[in-house]
Amino acid sequence: MINLYDLTRPEVSALITGWEFSPVHAARLWRYLYGECESSFEAMPELPEKVRTRLIAETTIDVLPISLETDSNDGFTRKYLLSLEDGNRIETVLMRFTGRVTACISSQVGCAMGCVFCATGQMGFTRHLTTGEIVAQAVHVQRVLRTLGAETSDIDSNHDPRSHRLRNVVLMGMGEPLHNYDAVLKAIEILNDGSGLSLGAEHITLSTVGVVPGILRLAKEKKAIRLAVSLHAATQAGRASLVPAARKWQLDELMAACRTYSETTGRRIFYEWTLIEGENDTEQHARDVGSLLRDLPSQVNLIPLNPTTGYDGAPTRSEASKRFQQILSEEFKIPSTFRQRRGIDIAAGCGQLAIAEK
Ligand code: SAH
Ligand code: SF4
Repeated sequence: MINLYDLTRPEVSALITGWEFSPVHAARLWRYLYGECESSFEAMPELPEKVRTRLIAETTIDVLPISLETDSNDGFTRKYLLSLEDGNRIETVLMRFTGRVTACISSQVGCAMGCVFCATGQMGFTRHLTTGEIVAQAVHVQRVLRTLGAETSDIDSNHDPRSHRLRNVVLMGMGEPLHNYDAVLKAIEILNDGSGLSLGAEHITLSTVGVVPGILRLAKEKKAIRLAVSLHAATQAGRASLVPAARKWQLDELMAACRTYSETTGRRIFYEWTLIEGENDTEQHARDVGSLLRDLPSQVNLIPLNPTTGYDGAPTRSEASKRFQQILSEEFKIPSTFRQRRGIDIAAGCGQLAIAEK
């Protein structure tokens, strides 16, 4: 059986016309899949019976059933534990800040990179997700948003209609997206399709731990997505102790790849820095990262450490965090932002995704 979420629009078209049906039906099917987010062929009345019969016989629409759904206390974050066909589970997070709806989606079950402070890294690697499983998470979130809209719900207090459409996707859930390059890039192509979910490339952010060959490959892609690189330390030794993958892709090699990426694409990179008290948050650390990024088009995203069971570091206090940011901006003219801390109470914050069952 073919999972339709695995196919790009041209592939859906080739499938339908290969069965000698009109391409008009392929366009309709695509609209049902991504415009309406339909999950049942019965709910596609504009497709002739003979097309539907063939689809039912040879294809599936693999929605991911919800195992668990949790809302954060502030109501801004909702976390879904979704089941995969083989019994594995992944987490997908819906974040709703005023006028801005973002889905944080997973690219793997677990992660092989083993970052010490990350709950996904602590669980180890199980397997890559397929394109269809990555796409299905975004469709799931879009379907949820539609339902909320139909219920005249106050998804946010302004009843902002934009809140009912998925606008942004961040590949920052479970897994290392560049370790699953082909499936992820194909999923991005599907999400980006103008007659489907129509997520603009600039609204899709891919975050990587620093997989150098992946960054170099991405530099040559036509898609203008946003790239975020998890740095966390500005020296090879400091980085290797937090991010084991840095032993394989060393800091100088990583920075050279980032430079190539920015030069080739003309785009800046977002550098993520998880602030851990006493580990990477002193004034000296701020100056080290400032010097490292000095002549690169960059923005730094500061993320105060979120708690995970396998690591007992503490988040940097607010005073020191502000000082860190001030050094970047005043001494190095590097813009930086603090990642909003949302969903921590339901372990939906950065680095907290594992398969929690409660
Ligand atoms: N694998 C990718 C994307 C997923 S993690 C990557 O590592 O970039 C998304 C971001 O959350 C990364 O910057 C990661 O370093 C950060 N992160 C991981 N664990 C965290 C934690 N406990 N607290 C705060 N940020 C964390
Ligand atoms: Fe994997 Fe990213 Fe977590 Fe590191 S921070 S273990 S790369 S998911």
